[in-house]
Amino acid sequence: MGLKNHTLIKRINRAKILNSIRRNGSVARAQIADQTGLDRKSVTNFVNALIEDELVKESGKQENVAGRPFTMLNFKPHYAAGIYIAPRHAQATLLDLHGNIIATFEEEYSFYPELPVLLTSLKQLLRQLVAIQQPDLGIGICMPGFLDVTNGIIIDSVNIPALKGFPFRDFLMDIVDFPVFFEEESRAVALAEKWFGVGQIYDDFVVVEVSEGIGAGFVNDRRLFKGAGQYAGEIGHLTIETNGIRCRCGNKGCLEAYASERAVVEQLGGFSARLCDLERDKINADQYFLTMNETGAKLAVGLAAIINILCPRIIIISGSVVDFFQSPLLDSIKRNLVARCLKSSLDQTQIMISELNGNNALGAATLPLSAVFEVPGYYYV
Ligand SMILES: [Zn+2]
Repeated sequence: MGLKNHTLIKRINRAKILNSIRRNGSVARAQIADQTGLDRKSVTNFVNALIEDELVKESGKQENVAGRPFTMLNFKPHYAAGIYIAPRHAQATLLDLHGNIIATFEEEYSFYPELPVLLTSLKQLLRQLVAIQQPDLGIGICMPGFLDVTNGIIIDSVNIPALKGFPFRDFLMDIVDFPVFFEEESRAVALAEKWFGVGQIYDDFVVVEVSEGIGAGFVNDRRLFKGAGQYAGEIGHLTIETNGIRCRCGNKGCLEAYASERAVVEQLGGFSARLCDLERDKINADQYFLTMNETGAKLAVGLAAIINILCPRIIIISGSVVDFFQSPLLDSIKRNLVARCLKSSLDQTQIMISELNGNNALGAATLPLSAVFEVPGYYYV
């Protein structure tokens, strides 16, 4: 066995042991051996190294059924943060190594914010996070747009144009001492589902986020499918009307121009509020149902494209528009899909609403967790 393979297998086994502790909360060495299939001597050696690395600690004794005491293991306190920079708000989440949410914070601003406004909000969120715990494992940032995830630079963003070209990694490296990671927002939502939602039990699934923007994240064999240039998933800019209304991307008839949060707010009365601030009982009932059904019909065109091309077993929908209309929107989507999908493909696909909250920031926070629990290219949570 070559040195490279040997090192790789060690990294994978180390990750398996860490995941055993992550999933169990508190676990004995013998249980880790049973769960990972590693022999007990190897587990002992890995655990000793993890204790030396200050990642794992012994956490008291527990008796098994035969009355024999076991030394339990758990994580030492370490934290990961996720920040979502959205068109009208920014949200931060702090997680421990088990993925428990320790704190969340939110900052609001107006649509199309200038860069200084965004950076002030970002700094405020960072201040709030570190006042609770230092996110020593790192900070994951997710944003809408075409993102160079390596350098943390937005190549282009339809919904937050002020972000274009700003060197986020350099900016953050100057103000924090933690590792920083980047991901596009819909893909971050897919990661949240993979780690904490329905995606925990499915190796392949699609997430469609319907908020200010509309985007999809594809998880295949427990890893994100990113496409060339890492731009896969821009379903919001699928043409659903060949000579339709102008989209913010410059093209005509994009799905996003009809079913995004802003489009829905306009259809509900034209006020420039966020959907979460609208009071349902103040909206004309006919207008409400018409908008919901139209939104469902438009989204069904986009989802039908995914179903006819990929035939995924699960599509999870989430985002502010889904939160607002909830299951009646899902019913409308399902009704409209019947006329737009091949029946055999549609029969294979289950569509459901996400059960998570604050998915974007949560997904961003999995980026530093991935550096602990996954081995890129070889082993995924
Ligand atoms: Zn567009």
